[in-house]
Amino acid sequence: MNLIKNTLPLFPSSLDEVIRRIENVDPISYGRTRNYVDGKVTYLSPYISRGFTTTKRILDSVIRRGYKPAQIEKFIQELAWRDYWQQVWIAKGSEINTDIKNPQTPVNNYGMAEAIYKGATGILAIDLAIDDFYNTGYIHNHIRMYIASLSCNLAKNHWKLPAQWMYYHLLDADWASNALSWQWVAGSNSNKKYYANQENINRYCYTSQKSTFLDIPYQAFSGIETISILEPTITPIFTTSLPPAEDISIDRSLPACIYNFYNLDPAWRTEIKANRILLLEPSHFKNYPVAKKTIQFILKLAKENIDKVQVFVGEFQDLLATYSFNSLYFKEHPTTEHYEGIKEDREWMFPVKGYYPSFFSYWKKCKKQLSNL
Ligand SMILES: Cc1cc2nc3c(=O)[nH]c(=O)nc-3n(C[C@H](O)[C@H](O)[C@H](O)COP(=O)(O)OP(=O)(O)OC[C@H]3O[C@@H](n4cnc5c(N)ncnc54)[C@H](O)[C@@H]3O)c2cc1C
Repeated sequence: MNLIKNTLPLFPSSLDEVIRRIENVDPISYGRTRNYVDGKVTYLSPYISRGFTTTKRILDSVIRRGYKPAQIEKFIQELAWRDYWQQVWIAKGSEINTDIKNPQTPVNNYGMAEAIYKGATGILAIDLAIDDFYNTGYIHNHIRMYIASLSCNLAKNHWKLPAQWMYYHLLDADWASNALSWQWVAGSNSNKKYYANQENINRYCYTSQKSTFLDIPYQAFSGIETISILEPTITPIFTTSLPPAEDISIDRSLPACIYNFYNLDPAWRTEIKANRILLLEPSHFKNYPVAKKTIQFILKLAKENIDKVQVFVGEFQDLLATYSFNSLYFKEHPTTEHYEGIKEDREWMFPVKGYYPSFFSYWKKCKKQLSNL
């Protein structure tokens, strides 16, 4: 089981290291191995989710290195899932906070299984991953799916609170990928619930557990009423600890560029002189709480890579009321709809915008663009 622990990466905060990580992506091995816990995944999600880099820059990098789209379609498709969920968030707004396509059913409770929270489900690969998660802020995609399935489909927890728990601890916390993936597993954003049995977990996590409550054939899942270890539930309360508010100093002759939880792009508008402000709004973090580790991560990313960035803890309207700017730039995002100023587009891999009811209808459109790469 050391494989799981040994393969866990750290998440450096320097741009050079992130660029090196992008340049070392192996999109061919990725396609073959991504489902394995030690597979050649990129560990780039914390940088993509924080807007520090983009799916487009990663795609451009692999194409520049000579890979042909046809060889690396799986890799491009996975990056496209991220853009797809973002497009759904833009189109549906706060509807993604509730069961989006179908009611999740059956739901026994609106808490979360205590055994998942404590990493004590008895499924070794999952428990180790949860233990590591609290230290690293990262979980492999397949294990995220296993956890969501245990929670929603076996413990029959409604997806929302466990999703908030995962979001709270993830350095790559992205409410669209998070809420919509949890709902996909729970069947409220798909036509079928996702299940994984012990054999599947053993295969992808290199365990050899037998006789667990998951050591059953797939057809047996529909007959499960309760699993005693998953029955006790808890209702954790998530709060964000922001740094204390401090005055910032503004050059009124210059515009302001507003950074936030979802935009920490060090390459953004570097051609202009500007007041660069990382805005941490208490109201944002009340709706989308994150752990201390995540706040430390974003402060490091910002301070080490964005020229003379200053941190403003307060609401956007407080910023406007306290300081005056000759102009103000921000990036489009569902969480910046209340900002005022010049809204700039985010970078996308493909010019495919709007709501598509399924990933594959979205991907069909994206695929047509591959020949332009
Ligand atoms: C229950 C659940 C919750 C999730 N919550 C989040 C979340 O809060 N934030 C987040 O960024 N991702 C989330 N994901 C998606 C996915 O698990 C992570 O993006 C991925 O594991 C990140 O690791 P990586 O960068 O090594 O990914 P890689 O496999 O190397 O993929 C490269 C990039 O492609 C994108 N990507 C890959 N797979 C997916 C996917 N299934 N959905 C969306 N984007 C994908 C990500 O941006 C990722 O960084 C969730 C998935 C599940 C099943």
